[in-house]
Amino acid sequence: MTRTMTPIELEEHYAAHNYEPLPVVLARGQGAHLWDVNGRRYIDMMSAYSAASHGHSHPRILAALEAQAHRLAMPSRAYYNDRLGLLLAELCRRTGLDAALPMNTGAEAVETAIKAARRWGYRVKRIPRDRAEIVVAQGNFHGRTTTIVGFSTEADYRADFGPFAPGFRAVPFGDLAAMAAAITPDTAAVMIEPIQGEAGIIVPPQGYLAGVRRLCDERGVLFILDEVQSGLGRTGAWFAFEHEHVVPDGLILGKALGGGILPVSALVGRRELTDVFTPGSHGSTFGGNPLAAAVGLEALHIIEDEKLVERSRVLGAFMLTRLRAMRSPALKAVRGRGLWVGAEIDPAYAGAREVCLRMLTKGVLSKDTHGTVVRLAPPLVIERADIDRALDVFEETLDEVARHREPAVA
Ligand SMILES: *Cc1c(COP(=O)(O)O)cnc(C)c1O
Repeated sequence: MTRTMTPIELEEHYAAHNYEPLPVVLARGQGAHLWDVNGRRYIDMMSAYSAASHGHSHPRILAALEAQAHRLAMPSRAYYNDRLGLLLAELCRRTGLDAALPMNTGAEAVETAIKAARRWGYRVKRIPRDRAEIVVAQGNFHGRTTTIVGFSTEADYRADFGPFAPGFRAVPFGDLAAMAAAITPDTAAVMIEPIQGEAGIIVPPQGYLAGVRRLCDERGVLFILDEVQSGLGRTGAWFAFEHEHVVPDGLILGKALGGGILPVSALVGRRELTDVFTPGSHGSTFGGNPLAAAVGLEALHIIEDEKLVERSRVLGAFMLTRLRAMRSPALKAVRGRGLWVGAEIDPAYAGAREVCLRMLTKGVLSKDTHGTVVRLAPPLVIERADIDRALDVFEETLDEVARHREPAVA
């Protein structure tokens, strides 16, 4: 090697290529802003898929992290610690549920929910051994473990990672009749996202969650919601289930629970569900450590103290209104709730990645999902002026791609 490799060259050379990052090298973050290695500032319209809902380097999160790191970080759950109970109590108070099981990443909490649902199926519902099924939605995203990608309907997530675990049935998202038809006496649970994030911010028809709740009650099935991305203020409510005045039996949280600093996740549920776990039946070395608990608790307090839920609702409505007023042939549809919006780009004009690349050169960071959707989901602490600036850039970019390219003739 005759010269030092750049950060991009280092990653390209030494990293497995399971991501295709946009060409910017980030070095610093503060609130809704990120800076690259050259000191150029960007507006963050992605917030790490909701993990940075509190904004980057939130001073109260940093203070909680530092204080707890000096006190006690990792004693393991072989012992009680003086932080975990506080986090779990706050999670139960916030959700209206009874008990919680702490993990680290979202996928681990989803796995925890799957185990809980199956055991509940055998021990409470009395489903014959090894027959328990979980009904999921087509287009789901619940993480990347082998069990979870096994019930994904996305070819890329699955290809050549089998054999997969059986016991899942996928039905179209938003379709109550299909859900009703898929439930059998062997169904332990329905597990869905209230709004499908990775599928492109897909909002189901009004009444869908209430309908699933009713169906689950009628058929003796658990209703489990994965709010890893939608929860903790993202949709303009603490939890997306509140929009339809229902409460699930099990709730999966992650991402923003870590305050933008650590992976912190949990399954929160009714006692009947969480009580299926007995000592030794499930665990995690890092799950529930006092460092994560202190950060998670502070993350919840900040959402309350800084009125982040209200900010998401008000600023999200503002963002949607402005986007819906844009008249560009390249913009096919806009959908979302709170500060969580998907803008569907007409592929005749540009791919969503191209739109994101152009926005990057103008100082706005976003990310495409599914080739055609630009994600607009800033940290909930973002100021209205930054949203305005980001939407100016988005509109300018739509103009560019509409001008530079004639649509393909159908
Ligand atoms: C991101 C996400 C997950 C997985 O979380 P990880 O922390 O990446 O494992 C699970 N469910 C939903 C809805 C998500 O958006």
